[in-house]
Amino acid sequence: MTEDQNAYQTYLWVVAHPDDAEFSSAGTINRLASEGKDIVIVQVTSGDRGTTDESYTPETLAQTREAEELEAARRLGVHKVEFLREGDGHVFPSVEFREKIVRMIRTHKPDVIVTHDPFRPYALHPDHRAVGITAHDCVYPLARDPLYFPEHKAAGIEPHKTAEIWYFGSESPDLVIDITDHFDAKIHALLAHASQVGDGDGLAERLRERQEEVAKDEPFTLGEAYKTVRMRR
Ligand SMILES: [Zn+2]
Repeated sequence: MTEDQNAYQTYLWVVAHPDDAEFSSAGTINRLASEGKDIVIVQVTSGDRGTTDESYTPETLAQTREAEELEAARRLGVHKVEFLREGDGHVFPSVEFREKIVRMIRTHKPDVIVTHDPFRPYALHPDHRAVGITAHDCVYPLARDPLYFPEHKAAGIEPHKTAEIWYFGSESPDLVIDITDHFDAKIHALLAHASQVGDGDGLAERLRERQEEVAKDEPFTLGEAYKTVRMRR
């Protein structure tokens, strides 16, 4: 990380579903939390349709997934989880959805926003694309400039300038975070998502291989990778 990046204090993960932050970046979250950084996760949906198990209803699935997410976040040292409760599979980059993301940015005032890479060719899952592109569009200029959603200022929520946006799942990453000492915490957090990972059979082996591959050109063993974009000042 650069000197500027080391000085950042507040990180806002904006993700579509419970477990997206953990699969992509739990090692980074745990590392930053252990360094005293403030971490907030915005859960856009509560994953209320993401199952093939028909014994769930969307309501019971959402309750399960929110409880699992809170436990995963607790294990990683996350300060706060915000649930927006958009419908799973129903996220669309509308003006209404932008307003909700801008409100989160202006409320938590992150130095860095971490989200899905919306520019990855042929990426599956419409929610991942919608969340990534909406976060991208909200950072600049919507969250920064006061005439967008002026009702926020009227409610005492000031505009905010974010320094960087980091995309996970990118095909062209330019930042690899060393998570070697935080890999066990990543697995521990993922195991909290029992309705998605079950008993975690083979999970640690699979992920260790993936994070090794990510760090293959680095002077450390295990990494998580991001494409970083610095905002205009
Ligand atoms: Zn997802």
